[in-house]
Amino acid sequence: MKTLAAILVETGKPLVVEEIDIPDLKEGQVLVEVKYSGVCHTQVAECRGYRGIDAYLPHCLGHEGTGNVMAVGPGVTKVKEADTVLLSWMKGSGADVPGTVYSSSRGRINAGGITTFARHSVVSENRVTPLPSSISLSEAALLGCAVPTGVGAVFNTAQARPGQSILVFGVGGVGLCAVAGAVLAGCKPIVAIDVNDSKLRIARQMGATQTICLRQEELVPALQQISKSGFDIAIEASGRPVAMQQALESVRSMGGIAVILGNARFGEQLQLDPRQLNQGKQLRGSWGGDNQPSTDFPLYVDYLLSGKLNVKPLITSTYSLSDINSAIDDLENGKVIRPLIAMDLQTIN
Ligand SMILES: [Zn+2]
Repeated sequence: MKTLAAILVETGKPLVVEEIDIPDLKEGQVLVEVKYSGVCHTQVAECRGYRGIDAYLPHCLGHEGTGNVMAVGPGVTKVKEADTVLLSWMKGSGADVPGTVYSSSRGRINAGGITTFARHSVVSENRVTPLPSSISLSEAALLGCAVPTGVGAVFNTAQARPGQSILVFGVGGVGLCAVAGAVLAGCKPIVAIDVNDSKLRIARQMGATQTICLRQEELVPALQQISKSGFDIAIEASGRPVAMQQALESVRSMGGIAVILGNARFGEQLQLDPRQLNQGKQLRGSWGGDNQPSTDFPLYVDYLLSGKLNVKPLITSTYSLSDINSAIDDLENGKVIRPLIAMDLQTIN
């Protein structure tokens, strides 16, 4: 069987959309007809070469999406043919099968345990989660990366409690989901910080109580007007080392927690004043929101179905697979929050 996939052939060059051959399923693998894929900054970084040398070229990519199971390999028990599934890079229960090798007219095409920039994809059992058939597959696609990373950083990494004050640095897809997580956790105030006013408008829509636009205001005085003693939690989702530094500086002495979510570029360094740590502040890394997919993903599904979590404001543009390079450009240039690739869409935007 053949399918259409977007392939990174060379870093710094546009993805090539071409036909690939799907291999027979190995033990623990699942063949999924992908319906929607999100695009996140990880793929921008991969495409542009911001993560350093890429040893796997040419390869498939994409790590959040939704689709329907077409077939399962030997030993797969988590899902069956015709199930609706969430696709995520986060490892849950089930077999962990490292990579898939496709082929095309250019030869071998590599892929990890999960890729979603394709009409069909062979994924590892532990990267699929069954979804209720009533869920919107376009919205649920964001449960693969943006939602668990942003909401999970608040719930799991920072372990936010009701009434705690929180800052979110950078309100792209993940930062906005952190705002949504802060609302669900009962945090107050919820302060969103960015350079882009239109993203801050969406942050307010999603429940931020205050916003600071760094193009118009100085950060420190603006924060002091809201809290003199510092914030309980700061979530950094911009990927800029200077924001990581500011996140630690902004939290309160004796127990304030700064969580680093954003991915800095390869080679960038974070500078810290160690006295910040002597004050009892905590700097925490996060493995994409530190989720346990088997227990956390069903919780996010419930939030989405009940309307407590609304991701519609994040999905402002939908692209066809053949137009995926525009989606990546628009994400990098800040024109869209979370581009969605609709595999059924034929027309070019
Ligand atoms: Zn991602």
